[in-house]
Amino acid sequence: MRIVVLLGAPGAGKGTQAHVLAERLGLPRIATGDLFRAAVREGTPRGVEAQGYMERGALVPDEVTVAMLLERLALPDAAGGAILDGFPRTRAQAEALDAALHGRATGVEAALLIDVPVADLLARLSGRWLCAAAGHPYHETADAPRVAGVCDIDGSPLIQRDDDRPEVVRARLEKQLGALGDVVGHYRAAGLLQIVDGSRPIDDVTAALLEALGEPLAELPRS
Ligand code: AMP
Repeated sequence: MRIVVLLGAPGAGKGTQAHVLAERLGLPRIATGDLFRAAVREGTPRGVEAQGYMERGALVPDEVTVAMLLERLALPDAAGGAILDGFPRTRAQAEALDAALHGRATGVEAALLIDVPVADLLARLSGRWLCAAAGHPYHETADAPRVAGVCDIDGSPLIQRDDDRPEVVRARLEKQLGALGDVVGHYRAAGLLQIVDGSRPIDDVTAALLEALGEPLAELPRS
């Protein structure tokens, strides 16, 4: 089982890179943010519980988040592993993941930190749009779609997340950067952390991530 953890602040490019890595490695991308948004849309008890935290730009409590992630990881398509996007976000989540994987005689293969300066994160997040169907990410200046408001990949409309509005972005960053530091410390101590410079062009970041995983660079899909 191949579990790769992608780490980075909101807006560091985790979503973009997770899509590419998942395709390249033939593993599902599991994003706890997407799972929570689906739960909110469907009005499940978990969605109802998560909604208030998400609207405030706060982290959903660990217990709820860990239970949801482990349920998803137990589905058949993740039998060979997964790219984790947005999980773990706290030290307790990282420890819970370690314990669950240890129970299956495996562990996290690598934790890849996509590192981007805070000032760049603020600029990136305020211009972010996602496609309604699959969450493919775009940016109004840095990575615009070919047709305004329409996903290049699946043709669905682009939407701005409520929590990508500027006033929420700043609160979300401040709350989450501290916790990210804890998770980075956890994987550094375990000898699993690799840091990639995320301020470079998307394809260069992908190449650096694949290199960190020991993957050959040929046949890199164009983003
Ligand atoms: P994301 O799409 O990863 O930015 O997540 C959107 C929101 O979902 C976050 O602001 C949190 O409220 C919640 N969320 C996603 N992943 C986690 C996590 N691992 N732990 C706690 N809350 C999370």
